[in-house]
Amino acid sequence: MLKVSRKPGGEPEIFHSIQGEGVSMGVPSVFLRLATCNLACHWCDTKYTWDWQNFDYQTEVVELDSEEIQRRIRAFNCPHVVITGGEPLLQQAGLEPLVESLAADGYTFEVETNGTIAPLPGMLRHIGQWNVSPKLRTSGNTSEAREIPLVLETFAQLPKAYFKFVITGESDVDDVCTMRDKYNLSPDRVLLMPEGRTPDALKNKSAWLSEACVRHGFRFTTRLHILLWGDERGR
Ligand code: SF4
Repeated sequence: MLKVSRKPGGEPEIFHSIQGEGVSMGVPSVFLRLATCNLACHWCDTKYTWDWQNFDYQTEVVELDSEEIQRRIRAFNCPHVVITGGEPLLQQAGLEPLVESLAADGYTFEVETNGTIAPLPGMLRHIGQWNVSPKLRTSGNTSEAREIPLVLETFAQLPKAYFKFVITGESDVDDVCTMRDKYNLSPDRVLLMPEGRTPDALKNKSAWLSEACVRHGFRFTTRLHILLWGDERGR
């Protein structure tokens, strides 16, 4: 059984939309949002997936088997799936058969991960794109929790991994440069994304952040879903 987040109203958070962030921004995709996370970023915009002091587990999470999740994904008639969270790799043992079965029918996958958990072989085989989002000091997590060097080294060696950093302020860009040097990340695989849950918050950071991207050779990404729909869940 997999722990899947619920949309407001209780339905599982499996929905058809466009990828809002990163290198495949704009690609029509089915999203599967899994619950639980091993970090606790203070600016997290999906706290309902893990913050059980402020959200009720029974209200926010539904446990579904692989067949039911597949049935719901297949119903959208869209061959590209984004597996997100929370931290989806906490449940990767349960995800493997799901991914394997859909891949056999031609589905392609992206996984969004915080880069603290090493992927299993079955996942490595079938996931076409890893959107790794290592967390920086300003996320509020301890360095021991947020930076697991062996795991980041593994992702750094995967050509299909991109590193998307959430940027709250200028000091974050310095920390990204430190990580780029430490893990030998080529700049064209590094994306900087403004932190923000409203179009105004994104706009306020986008001008200077895009300049920082130009300076360092990083890619810039916005959060298209926030610009289109605000902070609405399940879009
Ligand atoms: S790693 Fe992602 S899901 Fe987990 S707390 Fe941080 S932003 Fe939220």
